[in-house]
Amino acid sequence: MSIIPVNSFALDRWVAPSGDTAKLRSAIDGRVVAEIGGRLDFAAMADHARNTGGPGLRAMTFHDRAFALKALAQYLNDRRDALYELSYETGATKPDSMIDIDGGIGTLFVYSSKARRELPDDQVFVDGALEQLSRGGNFVGQHVATPLRGVAVHINAFNFPVWGMLEKLAPTLIAGVPAIVKPASATAWVAEACFRMIVESGLLPEGAVQFIAGSTGDLLDRLTGQDVVSFTGSASTAGMLRANPRIIGQSVRFIAEQDSLNASILGPDAAPGTAEFDAFIKEVHREMTAKAGQKCTAIRRIFVPGAHRDATIEALSARLEKTVIGNPRDENVRMGALASLAQREDVLEKAGILATEARRVFGDPDAFQVEGADAGRGAFVPPMLFSCDDPDGAEKLHAVEAFGPVSTVMPYRDLGHALALAKRGAGSLVASVFTHDPTVARQAVLDAGAFHGRLYFANRDTGKEATGHGSPLPHMVHGGPGRAGGGEEMGGMRGVMHYMQRTAIQGSPDIIAGITNRHVAGASTVEKEPHPFRLTFGELTPGRTLWAGPRTVSLADIEHFAEFTGDNFYAHMDEDAAAANPFFPGRVAHGYLILSFAAGMFVEPAPGPVLANYGLDNLRFMKPVSPGDSLKVRLTVKQKTRRKDEYGEVRWDVGVYNQDGEQVAAYELLTMNAM
Ligand code: NAP
Repeated sequence: MSIIPVNSFALDRWVAPSGDTAKLRSAIDGRVVAEIGGRLDFAAMADHARNTGGPGLRAMTFHDRAFALKALAQYLNDRRDALYELSYETGATKPDSMIDIDGGIGTLFVYSSKARRELPDDQVFVDGALEQLSRGGNFVGQHVATPLRGVAVHINAFNFPVWGMLEKLAPTLIAGVPAIVKPASATAWVAEACFRMIVESGLLPEGAVQFIAGSTGDLLDRLTGQDVVSFTGSASTAGMLRANPRIIGQSVRFIAEQDSLNASILGPDAAPGTAEFDAFIKEVHREMTAKAGQKCTAIRRIFVPGAHRDATIEALSARLEKTVIGNPRDENVRMGALASLAQREDVLEKAGILATEARRVFGDPDAFQVEGADAGRGAFVPPMLFSCDDPDGAEKLHAVEAFGPVSTVMPYRDLGHALALAKRGAGSLVASVFTHDPTVARQAVLDAGAFHGRLYFANRDTGKEATGHGSPLPHMVHGGPGRAGGGEEMGGMRGVMHYMQRTAIQGSPDIIAGITNRHVAGASTVEKEPHPFRLTFGELTPGRTLWAGPRTVSLADIEHFAEFTGDNFYAHMDEDAAAANPFFPGRVAHGYLILSFAAGMFVEPAPGPVLANYGLDNLRFMKPVSPGDSLKVRLTVKQKTRRKDEYGEVRWDVGVYNQDGEQVAAYELLTMNAM
């Protein structure tokens, strides 16, 4: 294999490595596989992102960007094989690469789909409900969010060159913010190959993404309060970068995902012989060996009831014994190499530190079998399991991260003790508890939740469906307090908000409706022919209103409805019992009868652009309707959301009123309307 030049992509042009480049070596045999380095004009890159990428992205709606992300995910999905091939040289087995590559592509798919469901097909994100700020209703408030006007600088760790890049790009691009990606050098050739596909897809606007192969130079010194740094890596690098005077001085948002002494707790109820014990052993083994333990979420500390320590070590050792280590290209191999010889040295040094407080009970770095590769040349280490007698007295075990297949078993007395020990990690990305007892789970959340970004409960019920202690999911928050960096990534749309500014807007209902492109209470409405059910999705505008009715509700209607549906609840059928209820003056109409009469009043029956009733939201019955009351209904277009090329969702604000003009019911009706 010839040496791969790891190129940068700046100002929409590829820039080859130049000058005094660094050589990147294969994790399998130490051969030089790639070279990286060179100078870039970082000021011009930042300007290009801000002046070209930002405007291009902001011209699109959230849904436009989500559709682009989906197309991009499909594009990458069709080209995965080339990435697997490059990934072997980082020491990753095929299953390791699937976590990285398929996991990254999956994250794009999930973000695309969630954004289309949860964000408007618009450029302004409406955050929460309208706030009534005055008695008369002429002055109201609303929180909205809009994309930051700067650039997101993504600095990634070496362990997941593809997932690490895509999990940050997805929320950034959905937000409408351009990104400059800086992968870790050690595995940058894989990140570059994936980035090249992104560029070649042509799916993103000019300037939306740029790529730095090598140093970030003076880029961080050029950032402003409209920019974001999203960092993944070691605590020491994070500490150094966040102390940059420019980042402090300009209040540049700085999101950090750093190292973490993640714990797994075998619940007090999960004795050997239970499904929980078996699942625990399987999971700890998987976390130690997948990606050769180079996962920020990997289990470093294993807490078990003192009585089950020996059984735990025995069961884990039996599984580790069967784990074939070697050339990741070999299909029998279950654990490949660390990413580099430097990492190997680092892991062995850290394991040496742990050995001052714990005894190694499995794995000897000086005597282990390597299949299909030369152990002397590659970055191979065996899984190493330690056991500690005195976890309370230990310091290093709760503080030193050996970023490899290294973990320590520690005994606990009771659940409170286990949770106290887990908290000694001073803030982690994830802790898992294997228990079938909900009271154990609740105690874990109340006692230790504040110390962990994620708590993962597994048992016989979650079984094979459980996604794994170590798998950050795009739907769920990834990040943790304290030592883990204090950052929060993904978590669905929460992750998008890191790249947007929330602004409180205050004004009249018409002003708020105009800003948000949705009708709000008190804003102007338009009533005119034809009936809105005769208008296509494109022809309807927020505020378009229909008044229909009246319809008088008779006792016969109520009795007919009761008999027809079988709903003979006393409030509709028994005058004395109804009157004795604090809410009703006597027999009242069924709420569902009111809804049905409302539909009967506003529906325009002939075939037309309305394709389907899709449901109701926020239904409230506000006043009882008695026999003899006369109802009217108001139907107002609140908001429109494109769903497919052929149709979109229309959200109607519906109010039902009695003869005195009092509102008796409120809800939002959803219809699917043809374009
Ligand atoms: P690292 O040495 O801190 O490097 C992280 C990133 O920072 C790399 O891209 C690196 O680039 C860059 N960097 C280093 N110095 C820099 C500087 N002065 N200016 C700008 N960028 C700079 O960490 P790593 O060894 O790659 O990753 C391993 C660590 O990451 C482990 O501790 C692991 O726990 C943590 N990690 C955390 C998460 C998480 O989500 N919390 C995920 C994965 C890994 P170069 O490679 O070019 O030096």
